[in-house]
Parts: sequence; structure tokens; C-alpha cells
Amino acid sequence: MTERLPNFVAGRWQAGSGAGTPLFDPVLGDELVRVDATGLALPAAFAFAREQGGAALRALTYAQRAALLAAVGQVLQAHRDEYFAIALANSGTVKNDSAVDIDGGLFTLGHYARLGAALGERRFLLDGEAARLGKDPLFQSQHVQLPTQGLALFINAFNFPSWGLWEKAAPALLSGVPVVVKPATATAWLTQRMVKDVVDAGVLPAGALSIVCGSSAGLLDALQPQDVLSFTGSAETAALIRSHRCVAQHSVRVNIEADSLNSALLLQGEAPGSAAFELLVKEVVREMTVKSGQKCTAIRRVFVPAALYAPAAEAIAARLAKTTVGNPRNETVRMGALVNRAQFDAVREGLALLRTQADVLHDGATPTLVDADPAVACCTGPTLLGAKDADAAGRIHDTEVFGPVATLLPYRDAAHALALVRRGQGSLVASLYGSDAGALAAAALELASSHGRVHVISPDVAALHTGHGNVMPQSLHGGPGRAGGGEELGGLRALNFYHRRSAVQASTAVLAALAG
Ligand code: NAP
Repeated sequence: MTERLPNFVAGRWQAGSGAGTPLFDPVLGDELVRVDATGLALPAAFAFAREQGGAALRALTYAQRAALLAAVGQVLQAHRDEYFAIALANSGTVKNDSAVDIDGGLFTLGHYARLGAALGERRFLLDGEAARLGKDPLFQSQHVQLPTQGLALFINAFNFPSWGLWEKAAPALLSGVPVVVKPATATAWLTQRMVKDVVDAGVLPAGALSIVCGSSAGLLDALQPQDVLSFTGSAETAALIRSHRCVAQHSVRVNIEADSLNSALLLQGEAPGSAAFELLVKEVVREMTVKSGQKCTAIRRVFVPAALYAPAAEAIAARLAKTTVGNPRNETVRMGALVNRAQFDAVREGLALLRTQADVLHDGATPTLVDADPAVACCTGPTLLGAKDADAAGRIHDTEVFGPVATLLPYRDAAHALALVRRGQGSLVASLYGSDAGALAAAALELASSHGRVHVISPDVAALHTGHGNVMPQSLHGGPGRAGGGEELGGLRALNFYHRRSAVQASTAVLAALAG
């Protein structure tokens, strides 16, 4: 049997008492390690995190906690090569795709270390100015933000075992809130190794960072009123979490990042082969193939003016045809595997469902694999679908196939395009392509209320833009409705989730003393 990864809770490494769940190499099929959380005393583990980790973190200032983030970043940087090796084995990703996760996590940590340093030697945040409560200015109300005195539980998705931890942990730890992470089982190894390296380096106070690998059983039952829960994963699991007894009873603050039918929209007035047209084509192909389309932000629906449907189909398909798929250990391979057999089967099923309402414009379902056995490797090529009647293709607007799949959809006019985009019922991101600044701005504002982020690409930013699917810590990540209704990142806005706002009503002398 392979090694069973221990959990780190209550300040010590603890093995589960079960046989464990195996993690596999999705390309070679080998069993890699096992995870198991059976029998952990979770209420006691959570109490330790709250009492020891929370107290120690809250005793520090923002600048001191920012220094902790920088130290964590240094530890991780020193082991970066090992993380790439784990991602290659367990996620089956090529180096560039692993970097999105690993370096993305490091970058986000570094960003919050810098933001936190600028917050200085404070232990709470003033929220706005004091406001007088009556005619006499002596009695006023000052809002303050204090770190919540609970813990932050993260339940994460399989596709970002590194970034998924650090993009949440950076603002939580900076806020002074201890973290318990439960990574998705399929790829828990990388998260576990990163936590192990940080724990071994001794850079964080006891109780500040804990990890539970394996089943989620009992985690939500151990939550208390001051805890917060940040979930990333499917809409189905999100619904279970929202309705969990403890979450409801204790009003546990919950952030949900769920699935999303993200769009790319080429505005009217762009000729085939124009700069804006080419930018759309390039970005669609990139989004379909990076991490084999296993990104919550990936483009799923591509909208073009009806007259450009055929040229767009041809241009995207021509680029997709160049994608080499197979064993990421071979340097000629551009796209590795899906994470496991279950995801491979789910992509197949989802594709079959979408095909009932769409044509296949580029068929990547059975590619010739490089250095990989198709009977074993969970590899599939990119598939572009097309639905000429975008209004009638209801499934395209509500079925997320979590793999290298996107659908091209034609629209009549601007109003039609915006209405079709909104059929995603709230998404993480929409990207717009065009060269008319006024039209782009108008479309961006029309879509902003139903999207966490609107990524606008005009030819002047062709070489500068950060990518449709790349989540930058400076910008909000999350989306309304279908996307879960969550908000993450967005610079210091991320700290709101981990703080409690309170209004202190007092004399100006007391408020002056409070503000220091
Ligand atoms: P998932 O099956 O919903 O699992 C997500 C996490 O929830 C895993 O850690 C899973 O643990 C855990 N879980 C499962 N059942 C649970 C329960 N009853 N109670 C508590 N936790 C439970 O999602 P996934 O397949 O890992 O991820 C793919 C999905 O995530 C896609 O739909 C994608 O769009 C979405 N996603 C969204 C974002 C975003 O930021 N919006 C980012 C990445 C992915 P186990 O692994 O042990 O089952």
C-alpha cells in the first residue's frame, strides 16, 4: 500500500484510522498516496485552532502578519520544484498549467504580504469616518472592523490545490484568522505537502494552519457561530453546504465559489482576421486548453455576430487542431490529462448532452495521444461545438462541462448578445473583444451586474492583458447567482469576509482614544 498522508490538526500530525482513499496518476494510472481523515477529533481540533491559532494571530499587527505571509512564500518558493513534480504526477498537467496553480498561489501570497505591510502596526481597521448621531457633535458613531474570533474553514475544489489554498489563506491569515483547509481528495497531495513544508519550517504560530485530507464528514458539524466557511466546488455540493444544520443554526458566514458558464463576446463591427477577431480566437483556444479546460473561469460560451460564425469556427478549429495531447512528461505535449477517470467520464457525458443541441465544429474527443495509453490515461482533446440557434440551445447556457469544451453561438445584434450572455444566470467572468472603446464600455456596464469580472480586450492591450481566465488578486473573483454569489480577492476587499463590522457609539473623546 502507498504512503498514507497524515492530517495536521490540534498542533500535531495525525493519521486517520481507516484504510484511506488512493490518489492516482491520471496519465499512468499508478496509485500515488492515500488520504484518510477517519476518526479525527474535529471539535477539539477546531477549538485548538480558534483558541491557540486565533489568539496568537490576533496578538500581531497587520504588518507582522504580512511578514508571516512573506515567510510562508519563502518556504514554498524553496520547495517549488517538488510541487511541480507532485502536480505532474497527481494532476497530469504540463508545466505551464501547473504554474497557473503553483506560481499563482505564490504570487497571491506575495501580493497580500505587500498589501498587509502597508496596513502597518494596527490590530483592527477603521471603517469610514465617524458620523454624528444628533445635533450635538459630541456623540458619534464609528464603524470598526475586527478579525472574527473563529476559524476559517476552506473546502476546496480539485483543480487548484495550491492557488485554492493560498488565495483564501493569504487574506484570512492577514486578517488574523486561523485556517483549516480540506482540499478535494483527488489532488490533496499538493496541498498537504505545502502545509507540511510550512509547518515544518515553523513560520506560523501553533494552530494558525491545519489540514484535513479525505472525507468532509463531520467538518461542518464542528463549526461555531464566529467561524467562516469558504467553499469552492460544484453547485450541487454548494447547495448541501448552504442548507447544513450548523451553518443555518449558527449563521456561519459562507462564501461560495461554484461553477459558471463564462462567456467571450466579439462585438459587432469587427471583420474576420481583424485584431479584435484574432484576440478572441486566441483567447478562446487558450481558455479551452489551459489545464484541459478545468478552470472555473474558463470560456464555455463564445458569442460572435451571425455573419462571423463560419470564419470564427474555422479560425478556432484551426488553432485547436495544433494542440498536442498526452503525457505531460513529453515536451511536445501542450495539454495533459483530466484529473481522474470520474472527471473524464463526466466530460464525456456532458459533451454527449451538449451535442444533442449543438454541432461538432472541431472534434477532439478521441485524439492521438503522445506517449500515453488511451485505455489508461484520462486524456481528451479540445472539442468546439456550435449551435446556430443560440436561443433554442438551452443546455449550452446551463450545463458546465468541466473540460476542454466550448460552444460557438451566433447573435443578431447587441441586445441579443447581451441577453444570451445573461442566460448563464450569473457568471464569474465575461470577456469582450472589440476596438470601439465606447461600445466596449457600454457592454461592460451592461454585463457587470451579472458578472464578478468583465475582462475587456481591445487591440491596444493585446500584449498587456492578464487573460480571461487568470484570477488576479487585485480584482474581484466570484460571481452572482449560478456562480455561487461569492466574493474573493479584490485586494483588501478580501479582508471583509474575515472581519466583523461593528458600530461603536461614543463620545468623540472615546472615539479618538479608540482610533489611537
Ligand atoms: P465538488 O465535487 O463539489 O467538491 C468540492 C469540495 O467539496 C471537495 O473538497 C469535496 O471533497 C467537498 N465535498 C464533497 N461533498 C461534500 C459535502 N457533502 N460536504 C462538504 N464538502 C463536500 O467539486 P469538484 O469536482 O472538486 O470541483 C469542480 C467544480 O468546482 C466545478 O464545477 C468548477 O466550476 C467549480 N470550481 C469553481 C471555482 C470558483 O472559484 N468559482 C474554482 C474551481 C472550481 P471530496 O473531494 O473529498 O469529495
